[in-house]
Amino acid sequence: MKPFKPITIAGGGIGGLSLGIGLRQRSVDVQLHEAGAYPRHRVCGEFISGKGWQIIQSLGLEKALLDAGAVEARTFKCYGPDRISQVLPLPSPALCLSRFRMDAYMADEFVKLGGKLFTQKSADPSMRDQAEGWVWAKGRQPASSRKYGWIGFKCHVTAYPLQADLEMHFGNDGYVGLCRVEHDKINVCGLKRMDEKLETLTPQKRCTQWALASMHESRKRDLQESTVLEETICYTAGLSYRNQATSSAKAWIGDQRTRIPPFTGNGMSMALESAQIAVEPIHAYATGNLTWPIACQKMGLMMRKQFRARVAFANLFQHILMTDGPLNPKNVLIKHLPWIYPHLYRWTR
Ligand SMILES: Cc1cc2nc3c(=O)[nH]c(=O)nc-3n(C[C@H](O)[C@H](O)[C@H](O)COP(=O)(O)OP(=O)(O)OC[C@H]3O[C@@H](n4cnc5c(N)ncnc54)[C@H](O)[C@@H]3O)c2cc1C
Repeated sequence: MKPFKPITIAGGGIGGLSLGIGLRQRSVDVQLHEAGAYPRHRVCGEFISGKGWQIIQSLGLEKALLDAGAVEARTFKCYGPDRISQVLPLPSPALCLSRFRMDAYMADEFVKLGGKLFTQKSADPSMRDQAEGWVWAKGRQPASSRKYGWIGFKCHVTAYPLQADLEMHFGNDGYVGLCRVEHDKINVCGLKRMDEKLETLTPQKRCTQWALASMHESRKRDLQESTVLEETICYTAGLSYRNQATSSAKAWIGDQRTRIPPFTGNGMSMALESAQIAVEPIHAYATGNLTWPIACQKMGLMMRKQFRARVAFANLFQHILMTDGPLNPKNVLIKHLPWIYPHLYRWTR
């Protein structure tokens, strides 16, 4: 038998790591370069819904993540500026675990399976973007321009009495989601339009002020009285949710290929799905059954087919959610949520 051709993955987030695990489970020779180190906190709602959970099961990771403290979310409640929904059942349960734990666990698993992991090692895309055997999973690159005026923020708090497994608050200038993760901690994560006044506050104040800016009045006090775990605070500025035009011939997965607005709670699932799509064509290349350009073309076309409608719908929906005015669509949506949400959920997954 001919030896496997080697694969290098640039980026060790959930997309790169799950691809690495999937390829090692098929004995492909893989090395992964990660610019940062593990464990580390990341701006993320830490809520995996839709097909992502099934992929975690198919990779054999579910039990270990539940043992690491992952929590199932089964209900949600939405808050608009002037309306509150009932507690509603999620169409399918979601898995909630901090990225601090999840990425570190997946990195260990990759190494246990024989993958070679290099941390604090940045790959240079200008050199190798088209190089054979290189897969790019660098995530969303921050936009340099301030015209993409979104800030993503996250922190964990304790002693916040959640009213449902997931609370979603849609304010006038952003949104924030709260869900329970391991050890009874509550992840508070959202998007907020940049605001010069809030940017001058200390990190701890900024994070809670950003969250409070989108929260319903009735829940603010509970957040103010909760305890913020300082080491978990992180944020990222200059976020854009425009997808850059990607040639299907590139070996790009996860956010680097396709981004979906975060309120859907589906970006991690899409990173896992794109990694799952990539495994077979890359395996076929590694075993000499496909050329690299054909393998890239195949995976690109499959990802486009799988994600196109979902992303278009989510972008439209995010635009509606961020529109204000006398007929505030957030309030209208929340009023009709009990009959509309199963469709919204399905269309964004
Ligand atoms: C505010 C907010 C809330 C969100 N909430 C949710 C949610 O609740 N549920 C959900 O499913 N999704 C959510 N998402 C989206 C989710 O975080 C992403 O879709 C997901 O992390 C994408 O995974 P990825 O592997 O493609 O990229 P990432 O997880 O971003 O990983 C990319 C990795 O590449 C590394 N890297 C970057 N450059 C280089 C380089 N040159 N060389 C080597 N390594 C490099 C980075 O250090 C990083 O570790 C949210 C996003 C935001 C902004």
